[in-house]
Order: sequence, then C-alpha cells, then structure tokens
Amino acid sequence: MTVLIYNNNTNRMETYYLSLNDIMPYANSTLRVREFRGASSSQVLWTDRRTMEAWVRFRAMWGSPIFVPYAFKRIGEGGHSDQSQHYAGTSFDVAQNLDNASRARMRSMAASSGLWTYVEPVAISPTWVHFDKRATPPACSAGYPMLRQGSISNYVAVLQDALETIGLVKIGIDGYFGPLTANTVRTFQQQQGLTVDGVVGCQTWARLTKLANGRWRRGQFTNSAALVETVALDRPHMQKTFCLCQ
Ligand SMILES: [Zn+2]
Repeated sequence: MTVLIYNNNTNRMETYYLSLNDIMPYANSTLRVREFRGASSSQVLWTDRRTMEAWVRFRAMWGSPIFVPYAFKRIGEGGHSDQSQHYAGTSFDVAQNLDNASRARMRSMAASSGLWTYVEPVAISPTWVHFDKRATPPACSAGYPMLRQGSISNYVAVLQDALETIGLVKIGIDGYFGPLTANTVRTFQQQQGLTVDGVVGCQTWARLTKLANGRWRRGQFTNSAALVETVALDRPHMQKTFCLCQ
C-alpha cells in the first residue's frame, strides 16, 4: 500500500509504503491505514499532514476511540459530490455507531474546536459526522483550490487521478504539478473547448471532476483502482513551485 502525504510544512510530497494495519503517518497511534482507506479499494492513498494532525488533536479532545468506516476515496470510485474532500483525503465520515445525541455532541465539538475547515450540518448527514480540513480558498464557490504548474499537494494527486480516470493519458500520480501535468491539462482544456492556459481553476475543475466522478463504478473505464501505480514523473521536472500550505 502506497501512502502519499503532502507535508504542508516543507511543501513536499512524502511517500510511505505501509500495510493496512500500520498507523497513518503523523497520526500518532489513533488512525490505521485500514480506517483511513475505509470503503476504498485503492492501493494508493493520499492526504496531507495537517489533516492527520487535526485528526490527532480532535481524537484527543473527544477522549475515546472514534469509529472511522469512511475517509479516503478515489474519484473514479465515486459515492460523493464531484469535488468531494474525500477524494483529496482531507475528510472523515465517522460516528455511525453513536446515538443522535452523541453525534450531535461530536458535531458541535468539531465545529467549535477550530481544527476543521468544514463540519457538515446535521440536515445533510444525520446518521454520521463529516468534518474535513480542506484547502482554501476554493477555485469555485466550493471545492478544490486553484492549481497551476509549480503546485505541490494532495489536490494535484486528485487532478492527476482524474485525468487518468477519464482515460486521457496515463501520467502517474505524484502530487507534483510539473510540465507533464500542465501539458495534459492543456490537452484536456482544448478537447473540452475551455480556455487553454494549463491552469486548473473553476471551469476546468468542474468539467474534469464531473467526467471522472464515479467513472469506474459506471464501468466506463477499465482501469482498476488497484492497478494505477504512483510514479514520480513530474518531480524531476519541477522548477518554480507554489505552496498551498495555508
Ligand atoms: Zn463525508
């Protein structure tokens, strides 16, 4: 199992080779790879360091084990909205085993803790608690941040995954937005009649994620989650970089 972590402190991707029973990097002893992987069947997972650190602090605040059946998912596996934070590895769906009152207590603790960027209201998810550590600002009114050549992050992994999922070209997933990723984005923009600038803003994210979301589930692309390997393709080509650290 390959786990890619965007280290927000160093603005670099880190690669870990772990088994399902191992502890997630930066998660102390409170989250196993199996829990983070949840219902995904992917052999490669990604998140960022601050999401793991927020988890550790929230878990300590809660004071007892938290049931984590769902966290990460690949965009091709679907099951969430087009620009879901689950595809970026920054969000958790937890506490399905608690009663309504306990869930309400967790929701309100998550909201008041200041640890999470977003906590879903009870009206949207009454039988679980969703919180996430999404990067801001979003390129659209909600969703993923703007990316361009030089960006390094778990959101670049989502971008590369989505481009592969629609079958455009196999570029590998390394979280580094170098010239190879930029060229693939331009090809996509050209094919879709979008402004060809290699920048992944609102329109490009919206079009790409709509095409990629749930695509494996619909059987429109034969590539399985288990077969997409990570390759550090763009890493050697990076020169100027931008940080999504905040
Ligand atoms: Zn969720």
